Amino acid sequence: MMQTPLTMTQMMKRAELYFPKKQVISRTASGIHRFTYKQIAERTKRLADSLTKLGIEKGDKVGTLAWNHHRHLEAYFAIPCMNAVLHTINIRLSPQHISYIINHAEDKVLLVDPDILPLLEKCGSELKTVKAFIVMTDDNELPETTLSPVYHYEKLLTEANPNYHFPENINENDPAGMCYTSATTGNPKGVIYTHRGIVLHSLALGLADGGGISERDIAMPVVPMFHVNAWGIPFAGVWFGSTLVLPGPYFTPKLLAELIETEKVTITAGVPTIWLGLLKELESGSWDMGSLRAVLCGGSAAPKGMIKTFEQKYNIPFKHAYGMTETSPLALISTLKSYQEELDPEEKLELRSKQGTLVPGLEMKIVGKDGEVAWDGKEMGELCLRGPWIASKYYKDERTLDAFHDGWLHTGDVVSIDEEGFVKIVDRTKDLIKSGGEWISSVDLENALMAHEAVFEAAVVAVPHDQWQERPFACVVLKETFKGKTTKGELLDFLKPQFAKWWIPDDILFLEEIPKTSVGKFLKRTLREQVQKEVHK
Ligand code: ADP
Repeated sequence: MMQTPLTMTQMMKRAELYFPKKQVISRTASGIHRFTYKQIAERTKRLADSLTKLGIEKGDKVGTLAWNHHRHLEAYFAIPCMNAVLHTINIRLSPQHISYIINHAEDKVLLVDPDILPLLEKCGSELKTVKAFIVMTDDNELPETTLSPVYHYEKLLTEANPNYHFPENINENDPAGMCYTSATTGNPKGVIYTHRGIVLHSLALGLADGGGISERDIAMPVVPMFHVNAWGIPFAGVWFGSTLVLPGPYFTPKLLAELIETEKVTITAGVPTIWLGLLKELESGSWDMGSLRAVLCGGSAAPKGMIKTFEQKYNIPFKHAYGMTETSPLALISTLKSYQEELDPEEKLELRSKQGTLVPGLEMKIVGKDGEVAWDGKEMGELCLRGPWIASKYYKDERTLDAFHDGWLHTGDVVSIDEEGFVKIVDRTKDLIKSGGEWISSVDLENALMAHEAVFEAAVVAVPHDQWQERPFACVVLKETFKGKTTKGELLDFLKPQFAKWWIPDDILFLEEIPKTSVGKFLKRTLREQVQKEVHK
């Protein structure tokens, strides 16, 4: 067979050639904008030309601090296709972490949304390598800023060459993108994505049993474009000629419902918190969600009760998936096998709430205390992955050795696997509760609590215990109408028939909200501190 390189150059080219009339619907500060792929492709070339004029060369890193919108999408293609490296930066990190990663990646140019300028200004003098800032504003004039030199995105594009030629000699193993994990401890760790990795991962997103994204889809990534490349949906969507809906800055559940209804979104993707918010909105309003054929959910465990509500109450198919920054991210997806469709609804729900089976193209092993675990749904071990879209190291970081050895990525996730090969994430190694030498899964307890009609959100953490080493402690946010009515006793009684006695949390703390990380996951570290204070009161 021929050895043609798997590079991203073919993606936008294909959209331009075969789907010039298809649209990108983009929400920015000034409202909804519609562009055809013909326009987006031309603007992408203009952006690449502008970056070349600003001195960007092969291998240079160009950072973005931006929401999900068309300009960010243009950067997604212009930068890798000119053989530079697209570095998406998480705008919810602290200024210290943002300065760290910009310096660590050695970004030369930064593309930034106007509302994020104040955050970037806080990093100002710390930035060692940045030579230019490009502001992606809708306004005709640049906003006031202490950063310098600054350029106006649209003005640069107007002056640029629309016939810019992307280089044709890109090596498929060249870096195309990079992303830092949203570290909960220590400095963020960088992962480099190659052209080859992105192309192969995009194919996996298109598989019928994977994401199943196709030309017919109207795909709305709610997951931020600064979080593992919006799970790769912008790459796959453009390549396949899907319509993209980019929901822009500061969206609310109401706005998401509006976009789904008016743009007839067929597939959308985000973390469980987003979907809990949407469900709340659906309960209060009357929305038509009939266009949706899939809600992709990952990043943390999707509570069973939520999957049930989406599927049974609203008739919206739900796809639970698993991945991490180091895995591009798609690694597991919960699609039932044909013969499993015959199971009863509860059994199916149980399977669907697992993270699912391995995506074709990857390899997996699960290593417990005594080697690889049995496929019995019970034994627990660490999930290890390898494959063409799994990172092989952290970028210039000695912590590489913690996670990458023997040719495998050691994910730090503790899992079990059943007879059918369905993987269930039991916990992150550091969040497991170790009670009397046995493991308790915080995730299982959270899911069970969230299945109670009064519970909006629940997180379970370990508290140190003299006799048992650690014990589980639950934090619960009640739904508005149940506040002051539902008691701890009721919730504990609800759990008792479902778990062994020693799994039942020692206590429950009612909170107004669960602290979350920059990407919407429960911030267990802060919660543990909060609970500690409560226990010692
Ligand atoms: P970070 O590591 O900074 O939190 P990632 O977004 O890469 O950022 O998070 C990856 C982690 O998220 C995984 O290692 C796993 O613990 C968790 N995760 C991802 N998807 C799921 C899921 N469907 N169910 C449970 N946990 C998940």
